Amino acid sequence: MNILNVGAGLSGAVIGRHLAEAGHQVTVVDSRSHIGGNCHTERDSDTGVMVHVYGPHIFHTDDSEVWDYVNRFATFLPYKNRVKTTSLDPEGRRGVFSLPVNLHTINQFFGKTLRPEEAHAFITEEQADTTIEDPQTFEEQALRFVGRDLYEAFFKGYTVKQWGMHPSELPASILKRLPVRFNYDDNYFFHKFQGMPEDGYSAMIAKILDHPGITVKLETVFDRTQTDQYDHVFYSGPLDGYFDYQLGRLGYRTLDFERFTHQGDYQGCAVMNYGEESVPYTRITEHKHFAPWESHEGSVCYREYSRAAEPGDIPYYPIRQVQEKALLSDYVALAEQTAGVSFVGRLGTYRYLDMDVTIREALDTARGFLAAREQDTQPPAFFTAPL
Ligand SMILES: Cc1cc2nc3c(=O)[nH]c(=O)nc-3n(C[C@H](O)[C@H](O)[C@H](O)COP(=O)(O)OP(=O)(O)OC[C@H]3O[C@@H](n4cnc5c(N)ncnc54)[C@H](O)[C@@H]3O)c2cc1C
Repeated sequence: MNILNVGAGLSGAVIGRHLAEAGHQVTVVDSRSHIGGNCHTERDSDTGVMVHVYGPHIFHTDDSEVWDYVNRFATFLPYKNRVKTTSLDPEGRRGVFSLPVNLHTINQFFGKTLRPEEAHAFITEEQADTTIEDPQTFEEQALRFVGRDLYEAFFKGYTVKQWGMHPSELPASILKRLPVRFNYDDNYFFHKFQGMPEDGYSAMIAKILDHPGITVKLETVFDRTQTDQYDHVFYSGPLDGYFDYQLGRLGYRTLDFERFTHQGDYQGCAVMNYGEESVPYTRITEHKHFAPWESHEGSVCYREYSRAAEPGDIPYYPIRQVQEKALLSDYVALAEQTAGVSFVGRLGTYRYLDMDVTIREALDTARGFLAAREQDTQPPAFFTAPL
């Protein structure tokens, strides 16, 4: 078959590779001048630092098939994400604290030397606001779990900046569990497998795309009138964009990265969050710390700002509140009436997807497509339901 994959990110590359290995001809197009989608990495020519161009990406998964898959195409070196945050303590003094909130954070923040059980009792009995019986909002849930001091230092300002919404406007369901660890584990992720590709993500994705059955065309914009030229299209662009936004635009947050360089070590860690609402950026990323096995005198940093995406901005995080979900369901209905195309990946299904989930879904999609073909049935518009 003659297949078109729109997008040379992980979705387009993994689906393309699987179908090419099954003997199909795959064309992968991307409007950008590089492969890799939002995982794209490139070396800065002045400092030699590997830069995560669209924001920091750390690979983590419990899925051993996905872990084996990425290790086929790249050497992964150990990397644990240990985030710090600059915020105000209960006395209003600015300090640097460990994230996610753990025993170190609690002891430092409250000036205590508590052991795990003591810290648990302190947070749940002395800090948590137990007068809130049935939390309805993110704010109430956070106050109920951790109390005002921790909420204001670590959750409130960051959420307002990241989502442009006050935690009292967000649902309680965002915080499902007590967001605090009563030990000194400061590894951001719980997953069994974690690491960084030695030569960056774009080198890994280039290897995935390196197959005689795959042709890559960059700076090539797809529009839906081209759908009929192929036996099937896998579209990893924005779902609403496929339909020329005819029902309206799905809401996204976009990011602005203010790049700056520094001689030496700017902040001593890869990611420093800023909890205060009065600091306009959410975090600073210092890229060389993502490759601790390398050594560079110069440094490249990104100050990261979040805002509502306007037409023409890069869509980063889907908002998925009630209003967006209603519009999404209308687009899903439209997509389901459209033959010859399957919508995939984070933009095609309007969901936030980590890289491992993107790869898992891409593998399942390619297998599902081959199975549908064997059974002579139409491939669905969505292999994973967006709603
Ligand atoms: C700021 C940020 C940080 C992240 N950090 C992590 C992390 O630490 N760990 C993790 O596991 N995941 C992380 N992710 C998630 C990760 O970026 C995604 O899982 C991954 O990029 C999804 O790949 P994709 O191929 O579905 O989409 P994308 O990477 O967005 O690729 C889609 C591609 O389609 C192209 N395209 C769209 N429309 C058209 C068109 N009409 N014609 C031609 N080309 C088109 C785009 O140019 C783009 O290159 C992060 C995401 C963001 C936004």
